[in-house]
Amino acid sequence: MSFSSDVKEELLRIQPEKPCCMLSELSALTQCCASLRLAGRGRIRVAYETENPALAKRIFLLLKRRMEITPQLEFNRHKRLGGRRLSILTVPEADSKRLLVALRMIQESEAGPVYKGVPRAAMTRRCCRAAFIRASFLGGGSVTSPEQAYRLEFISSEARSDTLIRILAKSRIEGKTARRRDEEIVYVRKGDDVVSCLALMGAHRSLMDMENIRINRDARNRANRAMNCDQANLKKQLSAGASQARAITSYSLAHSLGALPQELQELGRLRMLHPEASLEELGQMLQEPIGKSGVNHRMRRLMAMIGKENTETDNA
Ligand SMILES: [Zn+2]
Repeated sequence: MSFSSDVKEELLRIQPEKPCCMLSELSALTQCCASLRLAGRGRIRVAYETENPALAKRIFLLLKRRMEITPQLEFNRHKRLGGRRLSILTVPEADSKRLLVALRMIQESEAGPVYKGVPRAAMTRRCCRAAFIRASFLGGGSVTSPEQAYRLEFISSEARSDTLIRILAKSRIEGKTARRRDEEIVYVRKGDDVVSCLALMGAHRSLMDMENIRINRDARNRANRAMNCDQANLKKQLSAGASQARAITSYSLAHSLGALPQELQELGRLRMLHPEASLEELGQMLQEPIGKSGVNHRMRRLMAMIGKENTETDNA
């Protein structure tokens, strides 16, 4: 099961109870899943289509409970959908206009042009905004698994995008539009906004799952960064040690180390033997051990005397 279908399954278990929220859900589902069939002389029929039988049941119950409409239910095997079953709910002609007026998609006086309006409460009440976003997600939404990326989107239309973005903005969620082939999409991309969107819709279990994945992902990123940093330091240390060892070796072959002060000879020999050692480790190998800054100082003197100004010692 994908993260998207987990979220949808969770959302389908939330039943809107208040009449205002039921109308809000119906509004979003009508905009996502319904088409209007014109029958001439201003007659109109609303028909919902969905591949998801649980969503078809949801629409059926909402029409029945909120609008006292009993739609006609048929199933169609759809060639285009690879033989999957399509549920079709058709609202009788006598009820279709009443439904569209209630949803503010047409005005009382006319049955001609169709407006993509929404019930006022879908904008003004938080419970109804949540219901509208939830139903929009059920009807045409998807969310990427948080293991891959943070992205939640709704299939929309030019007329609807503005409404969706305004409703999201009232919950301080930033929605943006994009076009994909001939579809318009409203999407949410920031991790915090995806979480807020799940919270708004009421998908609390999915939200917890996402937060857990986020925490692990952040911890993993931090560990990776720390490891990369350690490796970079180690590399620097190794290359500084190796270049010191090379310089000391070539000096000793040409001049021998015997003429240098005792403590520099000792350090030089240790470095040739241990090019990979850190300055701290070298300090511990001395007959009279000294700390890192003492070794650093001594190494600079040694490098200066053998004629190689070495500025890399600081890094090791
Ligand atoms: Zn409400």
